[in-house]
Amino acid sequence: MRKKIVAGNWKMNKTFEEANELIDDLVEALEETTPKRDNIVIVCPPFPYLEMASDIASDSYYSVGAQDVSAEESGAFTGEVSAAMLQSMDIEYCIVGHSERRAYHGESDSLIARKVNQLLANKIQPIVCCGEVLEEREANRQFDVVRRQITDGLFHLSDQQILNVVIAYEPVWAIGTGKTASPEQAQEMHAFIRSLLAEKYGKPIANEISILYGGSCKPSNAKELFANPDVDGGLIGGASLKASDFIQIVAAMNDARK
Ligand code: PEP
Repeated sequence: MRKKIVAGNWKMNKTFEEANELIDDLVEALEETTPKRDNIVIVCPPFPYLEMASDIASDSYYSVGAQDVSAEESGAFTGEVSAAMLQSMDIEYCIVGHSERRAYHGESDSLIARKVNQLLANKIQPIVCCGEVLEEREANRQFDVVRRQITDGLFHLSDQQILNVVIAYEPVWAIGTGKTASPEQAQEMHAFIRSLLAEKYGKPIANEISILYGGSCKPSNAKELFANPDVDGGLIGGASLKASDFIQIVAAMNDARK
């Protein structure tokens, strides 16, 4: 059975003190939310707060993820953070290929593929983002775009490696805009991604891979989105910055009957 996951992407928000407070609130709230076996909660704070989040995580049931990683192994790459560094801090997950990195830092599918390789080599699970921009959806090109992102970013991996990847479908037009994909739109794309995985790796492997939805997911719509058979949880931006909102999304995952 594939895992259900809710991951919070804090992006470039919060001072150290605010981050500490949010983690404390989250730990308290998680104590009251009955955890379900195999359901995973991940917090992805900015790099400087990973150690604090990771230290506190040992007494709670959330895991810690980074928001990005270098495609290089080590060396003269000022400002970069390597997968080996993350591994040495017991970081278990890392977001790669987020649309903001693709748009503002020109990240290509081939660069993302190299980041995925670095993470897997260091036993960190990549959360690989894909998704179309508004013009692509309006031109009905969303399936071509996502097919290219998945094929070029992931299909060099072996059966064993792909099983350690989490995919996040994030239509760019829904990120931070308040516009959410309808549950039908989300399910349609998630089923498409799973069919691509099945074509390449076979159905049993495709059925093991968690595919998260991201894009203005919030307490009021999480339940409907997570009820879809191919939606295995969410990657949450804005709503992960408030413990009470995030925890309601975690509860929606725990309640989703599938
Ligand atoms: C994200 O950036 O990964 C995201 C899903 O953001 P938001 O929830 O704010 O749309």
